[in-house]
Amino acid sequence: MARYRESVCRFCRRETSKLFLKGDRCYTDKCSAERRNYPPGQHGQRRAKHTDYGVQLREKQKVRRIYGVLEKQFRNYVHLAEKRKGVTGENLLLLLESRLDNMVYQMGFAASRAEARQLVNHGHFSVNGRRVDVPSFRTKPGMVIEVPEKSRQIAAIDDSIKTVSRRGIPEWLDVDVSNFRGIIKSLPTRDLLPPTIREQLIVEFYSK
Ligand code: SF4
Repeated sequence: MARYRESVCRFCRRETSKLFLKGDRCYTDKCSAERRNYPPGQHGQRRAKHTDYGVQLREKQKVRRIYGVLEKQFRNYVHLAEKRKGVTGENLLLLLESRLDNMVYQMGFAASRAEARQLVNHGHFSVNGRRVDVPSFRTKPGMVIEVPEKSRQIAAIDDSIKTVSRRGIPEWLDVDVSNFRGIIKSLPTRDLLPPTIREQLIVEFYSK
């Protein structure tokens, strides 16, 4: 799978908002988006013109980067969201939230979604007792996500558990940190997701 290998802090600076891509560092004064709150590059500090298309594009890129999904897969999520009943933008966010790598991050077993993706890829999580190594695996309410016995010594998981209190665990998850397991009580309602995301702009972007 294609991977981006440069500093992910550039993404935050490009979107001029904190996307929390680097784990614990995002909560310190080392955060680049706070220190240099303007887009990267030679023309970063110029005043930019914002067309409707440009605003929609930036919102789409922002959400894609938050969840670490490549363009083709992101477009597939949008099409799937359109086919579902309800509000397309909210459907899209729920599809992204239900990814296994996102759940692992939200439960506090990884410091960032990128780290969660890698840990899932390496087979360090089970869902309902069966090992799952597909980061995009779609979870559902009632599913139990667990770190198997042999993976509980992994430093990244341990470090993340120790620092998760900085960001907190969402109320729609029930996590038993001492037993390395979490249950998805429900998927989040829109009011429990970041208000800074304007999903309607993404739907408009793809409707052209
Ligand atoms: Fe973004 Fe985190 Fe880097 Fe800050 S430290 S710019 S929030 S990835």
